[in-house]
Amino acid sequence: MAEDLKPCKCGYSGALAGMRHKEGFLTLHCPECLHNVEAFTINVLAERWNESVAKKEGDGHA
Ligand SMILES: [Zn+2]
Repeated sequence: MAEDLKPCKCGYSGALAGMRHKEGFLTLHCPECLHNVEAFTINVLAERWNESVAKKEGDGHA
């Protein structure tokens, strides 16, 4: 993968589960909390993942 993936917002930093769907899109999900993103290219997928886990909602209580 071209881009480094950040650890999931749940704290999981192991391998993420990537999948290519028949319909042509890709998904990436965390096996711990099942947070997932989807995109049509691997680069966008990585970007979306990193954005989604970087987003801080509220004060990070959890
Ligand atoms: Zn997670």
